[in-house]
Amino acid sequence: MTAPPDRIKQILRTLRLAIRRYEEPAVEKIADERTEDAFQVLVATLLSARTQDATTYAASERLFARARTPRTMGKLSVREVERLIYPVSFYRNKARNIKATCRLLIDRFRGVVPSTMEELLMLPGVGRKTANLVLILVHRSRKNICVDTHVHRISNRLGWVKTRTPDETEQALYRVVPRRWWPSVNLFLVTWGQQVCRPVHPRCPVCAISRLCPRVGVPGRSARR
Ligand code: SF4
Repeated sequence: MTAPPDRIKQILRTLRLAIRRYEEPAVEKIADERTEDAFQVLVATLLSARTQDATTYAASERLFARARTPRTMGKLSVREVERLIYPVSFYRNKARNIKATCRLLIDRFRGVVPSTMEELLMLPGVGRKTANLVLILVHRSRKNICVDTHVHRISNRLGWVKTRTPDETEQALYRVVPRRWWPSVNLFLVTWGQQVCRPVHPRCPVCAISRLCPRVGVPGRSARR
């Protein structure tokens, strides 16, 4: 049985306050600083996959200092993009995808990042996570939930869903999370996942929502640090 909507709301309200003491995730920070520049948010999100936030942020800064638009970035060689974004995970694949995305944006979308899920998914390296985040952060969509590994893991630990993949989690969350919270789920749970509900050794004893969390699948011992 999934958690009742009132408990989900209570958890989200508690997290909204609790995350204020922590730094924003890298992509949100970039979206704020760069006044929701769609292209830069898209590229930063592509870089962030399986990469630590500090590394994503530094790599994005180096790349944007050199090129900020699909046209200027499209003129860089794959080698140069690789050099600028190293050491993000899979930097070679990501450099190729960024170049191919620049080309497609210019050829098909007149250099503008599209605003629909279907069109965003045409871009190389863009999956539902990236597309949802761009729609939420740039196009201010209130109809999307962005699910990455943190959101997937914590939603399952909280008992909100019982799913095996982030895509399944996304669809399940649309059914259980009250609609007004959809755009906030990613920010709240990613921040919590980086700081408290970590993949290994979640800090349950100091967690602001421990009273409301059934800790599904969490091993008995949890770190206090
Ligand atoms: S109580 Fe533990 S498992 Fe539950 S959200 Fe907090 S840190 Fe995660």
